[in-house]
Amino acid sequence: MLEKVLIANRGEIALRILRACRDLGIETVAVYSQADRDLKHVRLADEAVCIGPPASTSSYLNIPAIISAAEITNATAIHPGYGFLAENADFAERIESSGFIFVGPSAEVIRLMGDKVSAIREMRAAGVPCVPGSDGPLDNNNQKNLELARKIGYPIIIKAAGGGGGRGMRVVEDESELIKSIELTQTEARVAFNNDVVYMEKFLKQPRHIEFQVLADTLGNVIHLGERDCSMQRRHQKVVEEAPAPGITEEVRQEIGMRCVEACKRIGYRGAGTFEFLYENGEFYFIEMNTRVQVEHPVTELVTGVDIIRQQLQVASGMPLDWTQDRIRLNGNAIECRINAEDPDTFMPSPGTITHYHAPGGLGVRMDTHIYNGYKVPPHYDSMIGKLIVHGRDRETAIARMRGALSEILVNGIKTNILLHQRILEDPAFQAGGTDIHYLEKKLGLQ
Ligand code: ADP
Repeated sequence: MLEKVLIANRGEIALRILRACRDLGIETVAVYSQADRDLKHVRLADEAVCIGPPASTSSYLNIPAIISAAEITNATAIHPGYGFLAENADFAERIESSGFIFVGPSAEVIRLMGDKVSAIREMRAAGVPCVPGSDGPLDNNNQKNLELARKIGYPIIIKAAGGGGGRGMRVVEDESELIKSIELTQTEARVAFNNDVVYMEKFLKQPRHIEFQVLADTLGNVIHLGERDCSMQRRHQKVVEEAPAPGITEEVRQEIGMRCVEACKRIGYRGAGTFEFLYENGEFYFIEMNTRVQVEHPVTELVTGVDIIRQQLQVASGMPLDWTQDRIRLNGNAIECRINAEDPDTFMPSPGTITHYHAPGGLGVRMDTHIYNGYKVPPHYDSMIGKLIVHGRDRETAIARMRGALSEILVNGIKTNILLHQRILEDPAFQAGGTDIHYLEKKLGLQ
């Protein structure tokens, strides 16, 4: 087992990783910015190193500072969490070349899946269903591109191979805009991602977002943990997630899940990963793979009983997965609400001091958060301050439990989106299950 893990992240996920390390008897090193001295996991870690000023670019994105912290504390491995450097292949490479273990896949695999064109090529080869499209980069042959788009059928979407975070995409409604849109997306992608490769896909009008969780060890074992539905989104940011996805049958789950497993074997995947799909009219369409643990991993943990972070740490130390596919059974339903420090109406961030915090509790209620009474939410980072996750024997029970938990939780001193979650939980379409990715914005009158 790993001896000492440096946690290259902050907030709730840093605390989550610290707890998994403690379960396994692994020592921990926290790294923090000058704005984060009071983070809960910094107090709880065996060692803590300040890596720079508040701005992420000088601290949580500062590769040399993080490697130095690992060197001076004699860490064995580095866990990147999510966000920040978690999907940065150069970071993974620097970690390994400095003699540490990166808790995640190899730098080559991160690079392969980080380029959407090469990712889609690999997925097709593994039999994973993809969106009908150009099957590769577009060249500047206008005639050919016009014919291709006609064949796919409008609307189509032009996407940058190096895009991410919802940027580098342009929807084209009809032929007259096509050539101009390709050129514009190329220019934008060159500036934003230093890579002007773009490709074409059919634009799906009312899809759901459904993603599959996988785990792979270094001994050739790969399993999937079923799917999550993350369709409740605002500006491509997930707000509520659940597992399993309403309406997905066990047969379909196994079929798509096993394709993801195949894909992992093909690319030599290691650790935890997620295959993201758009789902429309009963069909799955792969859009991208996330080569890290995700914010919403707890809903999968609650329905499968698998501790995903623990598995990541074990895999990184060269141990086999604790689980085989035939032992993975989905039990009941889980829902997660992302609690953000923001105005529930305007969505403006609301940093400041939390004067009172009361956690919800009871059977099937889990609160993953780093906040406490008197904690000051700094203005420099993402506004998510915690995740409220519930589990029930069926979806109805889970919804009832979430409504109860939301009425119990108290976060005073700052504004939060708890009211928004209450509105979503009361929504008849959410209660019925299976809303598409545009539903929340329409409900909020943003579309
Ligand atoms: P990013 O890496 O920027 O998150 P994705 O490829 O995951 O990019 O796409 C982000 C979002 O854009 C999707 O969740 C979906 O809402 C929308 N999107 C992407 N491709 C399509 C498509 N072919 N049809 C409809 N919507 C799409």
